[in-house]
Amino acid sequence: MPQLIVLGSAASVPDAGHDTIALALRGSDWVVLIECGGSPLQKLARYDVSPSQVRAVILTHHHADHLYGLPILIQGLWLSGHRTPLPVYGPPQTLEIGRRLLELLELPDPEGGTAAAWHSIPRREGVRVLQMGEVTITAAPVAHGPWDTRALRFENPVTGRSIVYSSDTEPCPALIRLAAGADLLLHETTGKYPGHSSPREAAEVAREAGVMRLALIHYPVYGVDPESWRRAAIGFPGPVVLAQDGDVYPL
Ligand SMILES: [Zn+2]
Repeated sequence: MPQLIVLGSAASVPDAGHDTIALALRGSDWVVLIECGGSPLQKLARYDVSPSQVRAVILTHHHADHLYGLPILIQGLWLSGHRTPLPVYGPPQTLEIGRRLLELLELPDPEGGTAAAWHSIPRREGVRVLQMGEVTITAAPVAHGPWDTRALRFENPVTGRSIVYSSDTEPCPALIRLAAGADLLLHETTGKYPGHSSPREAAEVAREAGVMRLALIHYPVYGVDPESWRRAAIGFPGPVVLAQDGDVYPL
């Protein structure tokens, strides 16, 4: 059964137990990375995922905490014998910055080869990004200030389960529509800032979308008691948890 693994749960500043945001969607013999914080291959190794199983990366926007692991992922794949360009999906601006980042670091090896195959996600609600096994991934543009950003929905028609990941956003109708009726909403809770959401706002989005469960993610780990952050997610009638590095959600 496919799973969504939390590889990193913190907002931009990590601590010893919470790395910056990264998720892995795992099937029987494939993995799609969602965001690229930390050292993705090192984290995947904990789940016995070999580099050869990584099929694609989806980046929701270009902020450093979502993107900075891409060069070391590309280098690790190259050194592991991966010789076909890694498909990378994201908004056009994100792909351009990812491409420049790899170029700056002269990746992959100067012997040649293209590091990545860039696939732009159109700025349209419900657009299909990728199909992996039985899982369909769709996207919608969300409200993260001036930065072109996508939320993602993972749908498994075999089990009937669906999981939605908000990326960075303030509450917006497009996210509520994308998350409608999902089994689980992984919602960012950086705090009440423009382009971000507080726990209470995440709870309101979850209630309006009619999801079954809410998991707070991309939350601050300094200056905030995480448990008080969870308790602040009031107004949602279902269970609310704090996502933690290493959590595994069945899809
Ligand atoms: Zn951001």
